[in-house]
Amino acid sequence: VTTSPAPTLPLTTSDALFTRAKNHIPGGVNSPVRAFRAVGGHPVFMQSAKGAWLTDVDGNRYLDFINSWGPMILGHAPDLVLNAVQQAVQGSLSFGAPTRREVEMAELIKQMVPSIEKVRLVNSGTEATMSAIRVARGFTGRDKIIKFEGCYHGHGDSFLIAAGSGALTLGAPDSPGVTQGVAQDTLTVPYNNLAAVEQIIAANEGQVAALILEPVVGNMGLVAPQEGYLQGLRELCTQHGIVLIFDEVMTGFRLARGGAQELYGITPDLTTLGKIIGGGMPVGAYGGRQDIMDNVAPAGKVYQAGTLSGNPIATAAGIAQLSYLNEHPEIYDELNRITTRIADGTRQICAELGLNYTVNQVGSMFSVFFTSQPVTDLDSAKASDTEAFGRYFRAMLHRGIYLAPAQYEALFVSTAITDELVDHYLTACRESMKEAHG
Ligand code: PLP
Repeated sequence: VTTSPAPTLPLTTSDALFTRAKNHIPGGVNSPVRAFRAVGGHPVFMQSAKGAWLTDVDGNRYLDFINSWGPMILGHAPDLVLNAVQQAVQGSLSFGAPTRREVEMAELIKQMVPSIEKVRLVNSGTEATMSAIRVARGFTGRDKIIKFEGCYHGHGDSFLIAAGSGALTLGAPDSPGVTQGVAQDTLTVPYNNLAAVEQIIAANEGQVAALILEPVVGNMGLVAPQEGYLQGLRELCTQHGIVLIFDEVMTGFRLARGGAQELYGITPDLTTLGKIIGGGMPVGAYGGRQDIMDNVAPAGKVYQAGTLSGNPIATAAGIAQLSYLNEHPEIYDELNRITTRIADGTRQICAELGLNYTVNQVGSMFSVFFTSQPVTDLDSAKASDTEAFGRYFRAMLHRGIYLAPAQYEALFVSTAITDELVDHYLTACRESMKEAHG
């Protein structure tokens, strides 16, 4: 196979910043996957972004398929969000007292995600999931939780057992520092295997407080639930008095206006949210059945609090972005159409090159797994050729396409990606696939 070599981008300012960063910050980054360890090379330091494009500190431009790991569904720096933030800033940055926007945000979330009867705002997805299992434990009086291998729910201790995303990429899905005591209360099972869940519930009858999952998994790469799987989990939880928690930090407001639960027609007891809900600012939320949420302090005794929770700037950004999505549900069909073009185009390129890689897609999330096997759970995801993925990633980067720097991550498409930009992506994909396998 022949291919045009990628131009080598000038990255001297990024490299110099990374050298400085490593002296002051563990591994030089404030979140592990940013370090590019899974793909080789140094991270690119960003300067600014608008719409579909990122600009780095050396002036290179990239078409962005990470979108801040999900939040920027309308592309970067949409005017409607920037204007809302600028207006909010005039009223000061934080009060530590209730504000009108918190009420409006709660009303908007409830309208968009009807399973949520009461909601509490926090500052990140991690806080949302940690709090959700606490309230599930308080509500049921039980200690154990069930999670799925390769699902990532943030970096709370209870979830760093068989965790996906950066933990998996770094080869440490079970983190040192999590005590035995905590770990023994987290039961893990493979995704998309209902029988395994039945067995573990039976072996721990009356002890399981919550079952938490990504209804569509983004953190072992993109993996969809098989037909009837979510319904099966719903029935098992109802039968055994287990709180069903959908972690929709990634999928919320992305796969549909009401998230994966709307797309698949399943009603969880609690939902955790983040990313899109903050429009790029640090926000998370958890909510659901009123009888469960009324256990949260000060309504109930399960303690959870936050100095900056419901922050006026973050809620201004969140309300602006969510309102737009609420009023323009047609964008989900368009995102789906554009992403289907990307997924189909990538499949076709791989087939032409004799690679037959697996491309998984749900709505505006997709992953190209460097394996020809179907990917339905963590074991099948791990069949991927991560070395070849690393070569592909670097080839794409140097062609100005910014992908997640790890095989076990999903890619996110924003409304800023046009048909013309899909063509641009596919041209780079073809050349990079050839280069990675040349
Ligand atoms: N839950 C899921 C499904 C996620 O993908 C993430 C982050 O990627 C989290 C929770 C944690 O969110 P945060 O990084 O905002 O703490």
